[in-house]
Amino acid sequence: MADTFQKLSAIRGMNDILPGDSAQWDKLEALVRDWLRSYGYRSLRTPVLEHTRLFTRGIGEVTDIVEKEMYSFTDSLNGESLTMRPEFTAGMVRATVEHNLIYERPQRVFAIGPVFRHERPQRGRYRQFHQIDVEALGFAGPDIDVELILMLARLWRTLGLTDIRLEINSLGSADERLAHRQALITYLEGFQDQLDEDGKRRLYTNPLRVLDTKNPALQTMADGAPRLLDFLGPESLAHFDGVKQRLDDAGVAYRINPRLVRGLDYYNLTVFEWVTDRLGAQGTVCGGGRYDGLIQLLGGKPAPAVGFAIGMERLLDLWTQGATIEPTPECDVYVIHQGEAGARRAAAVAETLRDAGLDVILHAGSPSFKSQMKRADASGAEFAVILGDDEIAADEASLKALRREAAVNQRRVPLAALVDVIIAELSQTDPD
Ligand code: ATP
Ligand code: MG
Repeated sequence: MADTFQKLSAIRGMNDILPGDSAQWDKLEALVRDWLRSYGYRSLRTPVLEHTRLFTRGIGEVTDIVEKEMYSFTDSLNGESLTMRPEFTAGMVRATVEHNLIYERPQRVFAIGPVFRHERPQRGRYRQFHQIDVEALGFAGPDIDVELILMLARLWRTLGLTDIRLEINSLGSADERLAHRQALITYLEGFQDQLDEDGKRRLYTNPLRVLDTKNPALQTMADGAPRLLDFLGPESLAHFDGVKQRLDDAGVAYRINPRLVRGLDYYNLTVFEWVTDRLGAQGTVCGGGRYDGLIQLLGGKPAPAVGFAIGMERLLDLWTQGATIEPTPECDVYVIHQGEAGARRAAAVAETLRDAGLDVILHAGSPSFKSQMKRADASGAEFAVILGDDEIAADEASLKALRREAAVNQRRVPLAALVDVIIAELSQTDPD
């Protein structure tokens, strides 16, 4: 029992979102849900825990995520290996296949929630972070690829984000990647001694991943590597042209980045990222692409699909940068009371105000009038309602305006009229 009184802290890289910050999260999430609904997306909620083999098979053995970032453990009850989801797509596809969701028609679905990766924590990189994940299952594109990209452009507009740019690439088909792979291995063999540990290991297992390096010393090598784009056949090129054409039609600017390969194995054809310079080293806000092979790989009837994931911490960081954030009021009305009778009456009055749709905090704790007023002020409420012996004897409340210069700052109001008076006052614009 020695450590009974020891202070505990959260796991490194896993953050609490405190009441002062959660209002921003809620606001962003509400905007995002409206935005998703406006494109016909419905939520698909999957469990946080999945069988480890879902991710090793779905994401690919030789990827950052599967090689070193997963929180996996053995279920002590039955010895099964389980993993905290490091991303949404594999689970969303698993659910789609398991429940035959796209048997009759394609589906537009989304999920918002925490994902887990064992990475080195730093700004924009955490071990529990949140994603807005969007998947269009059963659509072959390129129209839907562009719908997703335009959808994102709209979200940035809604949030007033300007310094965010689009990069696109095509990863072609499996055959085309195979041909490119041979050329790439030959090229990379010339740099054997310069490759870092990851690079050496992946040279023969997943050479495309070597180009995904964040090691600045390897950039020149990566820049000179054979480009997958040069290995694309007519079908893949036509798909890519279809994407570019539609982006041009919509007036969305983009840069073709032949080195954009994305960190997961399941992608083919269209891949894209939205990047900003305003978040330091962790500048990718959103990444996505087409994954036509994944549904079959996870046991479903072959069907095409495309999706993306936004990192919510990075998006929120970008959104709140430079903006002065008004603290969100905790309530409309703070109810103050004096004495036993006052306390009982106050509880009933608070409920009546809530019945009328108002947000109400009923004071609890110190009985001192001064400290109650202080709390009322700190809550950000527009009004304090005060119930003391005098008020109760007269069947009235004192109504005090806390935020506005009212003609009369505090006045008595019959309890029967209190709701109407408050609602009438709240609906008037603040004279400030
Ligand atoms: P990065 O290259 O930054 O590691 P990634 O390619 O691993 O990103 P994805 O798997 O595409 O990332 O995840 C989609 C989005 O989730 C990223 O664009 C990013 O905004 C966010 N993200 C990824 N890893 C983290 C993390 N550890 N902490 C916070 N956000 C993250
Ligand atoms: Mg990563």
